[in-house]
Amino acid sequence: MALFGAHVSSAGSILNTFERAREIGAEVFQFFLRSPRVWRWNGVSNQLVKEFSLRLKDFGKPVMVHAPYLLNLASPKEELRRRSVEVFVEELSFCDMAGIDFYNFHPGTAKGIDEDRALRNIILSLEEVLKRYEPKRTFVLLENTAGERGDMGKSFSELGRIISSFPGVRIGVCLDTCHAFAYGYEINTERGFSSFLLEIDRTVGLERIRAVHANDSKFPAGSRKDRHEHIGEGYIGFKGFENLLRHEHLGSLPYYIETPKVGDMDVVNLSRLRSLTQL
Ligand SMILES: [Zn+2]
Repeated sequence: MALFGAHVSSAGSILNTFERAREIGAEVFQFFLRSPRVWRWNGVSNQLVKEFSLRLKDFGKPVMVHAPYLLNLASPKEELRRRSVEVFVEELSFCDMAGIDFYNFHPGTAKGIDEDRALRNIILSLEEVLKRYEPKRTFVLLENTAGERGDMGKSFSELGRIISSFPGVRIGVCLDTCHAFAYGYEINTERGFSSFLLEIDRTVGLERIRAVHANDSKFPAGSRKDRHEHIGEGYIGFKGFENLLRHEHLGSLPYYIETPKVGDMDVVNLSRLRSLTQL
């Protein structure tokens, strides 16, 4: 059975996330450890790690931390790449110590370099991260992207190339439905969905997909535009989510919505996803 939840704010304290998840009836949730567009971070005290992990044990369902958008493990600028590795290690070690299931990140952006070099930089950066901290509990999840402005990890062959460089490591993929569709995977048609599954199978392997970011798309397939829409109101439509939820493996994962935060739409979007499991 799939589990349904949302991205929630960690404003004030990361301990507030549990209550915010409860308020919208989320069975699972995702949050940022720090403001996602600034580098500065005060870190977390040992006391806070302890308190968070106690609440998490009580919560009992998979929780995901989303890395800041500023990170770019693919960057040719050594200073930026080094800083990204630094933040990654900081956050991954927190997640692991607190007992968090998933640490999700966008693989990186090819700015001013070709894609092959960008992929090699991502692999090099991850090697540096794992040399400094190899998680025992947390899975590192690469999020597929829409391929906007040089964003890497848009295809499963790119993700597969990164993942296959780390045998034996807790590494996998978080499937973002909006990004996959915007890149060109037509998950809302029978044909598109089966070729999508086939490609995953041949590249990363279906069992590597550990979680889903469930978002509809404001733009058509192949637009490469990353704009999230409410479930069923975008170009993916209910059919696309139904395809995922009916699949033996994909339909057993935790789903996190990252849809626009307006009114009580989180509650509405979650109930739309749940209703699709009852067809
Ligand atoms: Zn996402």
